[in-house]
Amino acid sequence: MANKNLNIKKPKFSFTWFYMVVGGALLLFYLFGDNKENMVMQKEYSELTELITKGYVERITVYDNDDIEAYIYKDSAGYVFKEKNIAKGVHPMVVSTIGSRDNFEKFIFEQKDNGNFKGTLNYDKKPDYLGGFLWNILPFVVIVGVWIFLMRKMSGGGGGQGGVFNVGKSQAKLFDKGNQPKITFKDVAGQEGAKQEVKEIVDFLKNPQVYTELGGKIPKGALLVGPPGTGKTLLAKAVAGEANVPFFSMSGSDFVEMFVGVGASRVRDLFRQAKEKAPCIIFIDEIDAVGRARGKNPNMGGNDERENTLNQLLTEMDGFGTNSGIIVIAATNRADILDKALLRAGRFDRQIHVDLPDLNERKEVFKVHLSPLKLDQSVEIDTLARQTPGFSGADIANVCNEAALIAARNQKKAVDKQDFLDAIDRIIGGLEKKTKVMTQKEKETIAIHEAGHATISWFLEHANPLIKVTIVPRGRALGAAWYMPEERQITTKEQMLDEMCATLGGRAAEEAFIGHISTGAMNDLERVTKQAYGMIAYAGMSDKLSNLCYYNNNEYSFNRPYSEKTAETIDNEVHKMINEQYERAKELLREHKEGHAELAKLLMEREVIFAEDVEKIFGKRPWTSRSEEIFASNENVAEETAQAEATEQPEAEPTVTA
Ligand code: ADP
Ligand code: ZN
Repeated sequence: MANKNLNIKKPKFSFTWFYMVVGGALLLFYLFGDNKENMVMQKEYSELTELITKGYVERITVYDNDDIEAYIYKDSAGYVFKEKNIAKGVHPMVVSTIGSRDNFEKFIFEQKDNGNFKGTLNYDKKPDYLGGFLWNILPFVVIVGVWIFLMRKMSGGGGGQGGVFNVGKSQAKLFDKGNQPKITFKDVAGQEGAKQEVKEIVDFLKNPQVYTELGGKIPKGALLVGPPGTGKTLLAKAVAGEANVPFFSMSGSDFVEMFVGVGASRVRDLFRQAKEKAPCIIFIDEIDAVGRARGKNPNMGGNDERENTLNQLLTEMDGFGTNSGIIVIAATNRADILDKALLRAGRFDRQIHVDLPDLNERKEVFKVHLSPLKLDQSVEIDTLARQTPGFSGADIANVCNEAALIAARNQKKAVDKQDFLDAIDRIIGGLEKKTKVMTQKEKETIAIHEAGHATISWFLEHANPLIKVTIVPRGRALGAAWYMPEERQITTKEQMLDEMCATLGGRAAEEAFIGHISTGAMNDLERVTKQAYGMIAYAGMSDKLSNLCYYNNNEYSFNRPYSEKTAETIDNEVHKMINEQYERAKELLREHKEGHAELAKLLMEREVIFAEDVEKIFGKRPWTSRSEEIFASNENVAEETAQAEATEQPEAEPTVTA
C-alpha cells in the first residue's frame, strides 16, 4: 500500500528531548568551558630552572605536594613552546615537581636578586580535582534526578509506560483481537435504541464500500450520552467486537497534564497509533474533561492547555479522511457543556442516548450478570428488577457480584434471595451519594408528580402533546414527562398559559394528593418563573403592563430599563399569573382525581408509560394537533423556533418537565 511508506517512523520532536539537550550543553560548558585558556607543558625541574634563569617566567605557584606551576610570559612562549601564535586569553604554563622546597626558595631569591625573576611566588593547596569535579557536577545530578522523579510521578507512574520519555505519548489502552475476550452486542443488555444506532457504525466499519460507492460519507464520530455505569464503554467495545476491529480506549482526563503541549501531543500520538491500526475505533471516555466549551469571555482567560488539546482533537478529526476507517466514539454524561465545535457535522454529529435502564431493561441486565452465578431457587429476576429502581447497569453488575460474595462469606452452596436483598441494601447504602437511587416512598412521590404533569397536559387544549412519562432518573431529573413541542414561530398567550399550567401540574399534584410539597418541583418552578417574567416584562402579556417590552439586549449591563415601581408591578403580575395557573392546575387535578391515581400507579409499576397508556385511562385527547403527525415522521422538529422568540421557549427537542 502506498501509505505504508509514509509511515516510516521519524524520530519525533518532543519537548523532553529539547530539555535534555539544553541541560547537557549547559553542563558541558560549565565543566570544561574555562579550561581551554590554558596551554600546559610538563617539564623536568632542571628545565624549569633554566626557563626561570632565562627570565621567561612570570609567576610561580608551589603546591603542598611539591607540584609547581610556572606561568610563562606570553612573548616568551615562543621559546618554550614550539608554536608561536598564542590565542588571546590563553596562558602558557609549565608544570613540574620540585625536589626540595628550601633549595627552590633559595634559588628563587637568587633569581630575584639578579633580576631574572620579577614575578611572585605563591604557595597553595593542591586542588582536589576529583572532589572539584564532583562539586561541579553534583548539583546538576540532583536537579536532573528530582526532575526525572517528578516527571515520572506526574505522567501517571503506574502501568509501566510513564516516564520522562513518554509524557507526550498517548496513554490509550489497546484492545486488539485476541488480547481480550470479545464483547458483542449480546453482552449489552437493554439499550435497544442505542444498540440500533451503533449497529450502523459496525456496518460502516465492516463494509465501508457499500456506503462510499453511493457517495455517502461515513461518520467520523458518535457521542454516547448518559449517566455513568450505563454501559457506554461496554457499547463501544461491543461495536469493536462486532466489527472485529481494534479498540483504543482512553479517558478524557488522561489528556490533561500539567505540562503545556502534552495533551495535544497525546492526541496526536493517539491518532497516529490509530491510523496504523485502521480500521479501528477510538473510544474517549469522559470527553467533557477536554471538550468543555471554550471560554466565552476573553477577559477571564481560559484554560489554554485544555483548549489546545481540544483544538488538536478537532484538527485530528478533520484531518483523517472519511473512509480511513477510524471512528471516534466518545462518552459523556453532560452533552450540554461540550463545545459546540465538537458537535458539528463531521465530528461528533451523532448523539446516542444511553439512559438508566427501566424495569424491563434491568431484568435484561440482571439476566446477563446472573448467568455466571450459581443461583438458588428462591431468586426471581422480576423481584430483583423491581427492587432496584434507579440502578445503572454497573450497579446491577455490582449487586450480583456483592451477592455472590455475601453467599460465599456465609458458606452457602448457592446464592439465594436474601443475599441479593442484602447486596442491594449495601449498594444503596454505599451509593446514595453517587447515583440516584430511590426509596419506595420517593418513587411514589415522583410518580404522583409526573402523573400530575401528564394529566394536566392531557386536558389542556394548548399544552404540548405528551410522548411519554418516566420515573427513571435521568441526569439531574428524577423523573420526566416528555412532550413534543408544536412547530410554531409565534406563541399565543393561551398556549403559554396552558404550558405553564402543565408545568405546575407536578407540584399541584403533590399538594393535592400527598399533602406536602417537595423540592422535586424546583426545576419546574424555575422554568415557570422565567416564563412568567418573559411573558410580562418582554412580551407585554399582562393587563397592567400590556404592550411593553423591557427586553435588554446587553446582558452585562445591570441597569434595568424600568423604574422601581414598574419592577414592583412586574413582580406582582408574575405572582398573580403563576398563582392563577397553579389554582387552575389543582382544580383540573381534583376533577380527574381517579384517572390521575391510576396513572401514578401504572407509572410505579412500569416506570415508563406512553401516550397510548394515558389514552387508555383518560380516553382520546379532546384536541388533536398536527404535531402528532410531525412526531411520527421526524423527531427534529423546530430547530430554530426557540431562538426566534424573545420569551423563554423550551428547547427544540422533545420538551421535558422534570
Ligand atoms: P459507562 O462507560 O457508561 O460508565 P461501563 O460501560 O463502564 O459504563 O459499564 C460498567 C459495567 O457495568 C460494565 O462492565 C458491565 O459489567 C455493567 N453494565 C453496564 N451497563 C450494562 C448493560 N446494559 N448490560 C450489561 N452490563 C452492563
Ligand atoms: Zn415536574
